[in-house]
Amino acid sequence: EAKNEGPGKIKVFRRRMLEKLQESRTLEHDMAMALVKKEFVVYYQPIVDSFSQEIYSYEALIRWVHPHKGLLSPDSFVPVAEKTGMINEMGKSVLEMACREAASWAVPAKISVNVSPVQLSSKAFVGIVLSILKETGLPADRLELEVTESSLFTESATPMNTLNKLRAMGVKISIDDFGTGYSSLSRLSRLAFDKIKIDKSFVHSISTQEDALNIIRLITGMAKSLNMKAVAEGVETQEQLNNLQALGCDFAQGYLFGKPQPCIDGEIRNG
Ligand code: C2E
Ligand code: MG
Ligand code: MG
Ligand code: MG
Repeated sequence: EAKNEGPGKIKVFRRRMLEKLQESRTLEHDMAMALVKKEFVVYYQPIVDSFSQEIYSYEALIRWVHPHKGLLSPDSFVPVAEKTGMINEMGKSVLEMACREAASWAVPAKISVNVSPVQLSSKAFVGIVLSILKETGLPADRLELEVTESSLFTESATPMNTLNKLRAMGVKISIDDFGTGYSSLSRLSRLAFDKIKIDKSFVHSISTQEDALNIIRLITGMAKSLNMKAVAEGVETQEQLNNLQALGCDFAQGYLFGKPQPCIDGEIRNG
């Protein structure tokens, strides 16, 4: 056992640390190149009215078309981009692509774009949104921004001020992955979001765990009393949808209605 504590173990540890460092440096470098080479693309997933099942909006979800590794999902690179600050450029490019494409759609569905806490704490963000709307011709009321609870987990007034300015311009704000963070209820009511997106972990357990059902009932009730709409994410089965309808959840998103798809010639095929 003593051998494991010895210099051999330290060597292995150092090598692993160096490998990790090298890996993340390569990823950072590759990501910077990818931005220039336009390897980041946007996929779109419908958000539907829970009752009529009419498409209300499309959520823009970033993908990396990697030259060797294929299609990469955001969980594998967004956190790194947030750490290095590259998310500001990346997020701007997603917003630009999404607004430009949405402006050309035949149907005036809304477009929902995820915004990182890093972007939200930048004083330049409101100006960026404003100029993208102008440049693409997308009306402000067709744009929705999805922010997470952790965005507001700061002493800085910037994120809150930013959201209030955007709302005053007509942009709608949703709080994403709700239920997994620690939003205080008072903060939530002060902010006046437009929508609350219920995290898919609750939705997935809705038919099997009474706790999950009760939490969703609580969130939809809270949304109603705060004059916000409730959106369920990750809806995969008809049974989940039935439960959500019974609870009066306004909107739903998930594989039951469509997976994220690219927009080709102004069209998003339902898949
Ligand atoms: P999110 O905003 O909560 O997006 C929902 C995620 O759930 C997406 O994963 C979507 O593909 C997945 N999903 C949708 N329906 C279902 C379903 O029925 N079942 C299951 N199991 N999953 C479903 P995706 O596209 O991998 O994105 C992961 C996260 O990455 C997003 O979570 C969001 O936080 C972040 N993200 C994506 N695009 C962007 C972006 O442009 N900027 C920033 N800052 N973050 C992004
Ligand atoms: Mg989202
Ligand atoms: Mg979400
Ligand atoms: Mg999520």
